[in-house]
Amino acid sequence: MARYIGPVCKLCRREGEKLFLKGQRCFTPKCAFERRGYPPGDHGRDAQWRRRRVSDYSRQLREKQKTRRIYGVTERQFRRYYRIAAQQRGLTGENLLKMLESRLDNVVYRLGYSESRAHARMLVTHGHFNVNGRRTDVPSMLVQPGDAIEVREGSRKRTFFQGLADIAEPKTVPAWLERDLSDLSGKMLVAPERTDIDASLNDQLIVEFYSR
Ligand code: SF4
Repeated sequence: MARYIGPVCKLCRREGEKLFLKGQRCFTPKCAFERRGYPPGDHGRDAQWRRRRVSDYSRQLREKQKTRRIYGVTERQFRRYYRIAAQQRGLTGENLLKMLESRLDNVVYRLGYSESRAHARMLVTHGHFNVNGRRTDVPSMLVQPGDAIEVREGSRKRTFFQGLADIAEPKTVPAWLERDLSDLSGKMLVAPERTDIDASLNDQLIVEFYSR
């Protein structure tokens, strides 16, 4: 499935806010958004100053794109998640965000075992993780409450994983997850609630976008 492999900092500049797609670099003065906080393209700098009325459609589209880019999923995957969320009980927008939050790559990122979601995705596809004792290389896998995630025995000997506990230690783990740095493992205790997910994401606008 086609995946965006272009420059990710452009995505932050396009959305007009920091999406934190590059790990540690996002917190340094090297961040492209800090240096050029206007939209990419020849007329990006002009657009910054141009006063224009933002339509409802534009707001809905931008919110959808922002969320999709934060979690690193394609339009096709995102639309599929939306369809499933709409069939579930409860609020569609909340169901959608909970599903995105339960993706294996996101769980690895939330456990502090990767720099960013893109990095987590790479670690998972390279087969460095077990879920419930079985090697899993599907980053889109939806983790369920009670599922145990661990770095595979063979991978722990690699240089990156040997220093990982020290890197992960200062990172806070959300309440719906449990982490054990001694063996680089973790567990989903309960499904994430809406309050556990980034409050700046406006799921209502996404629902409005797909309900047009
Ligand atoms: Fe976005 Fe991070 Fe790039 Fe800054 S460094 S523009 S926050 S991806």
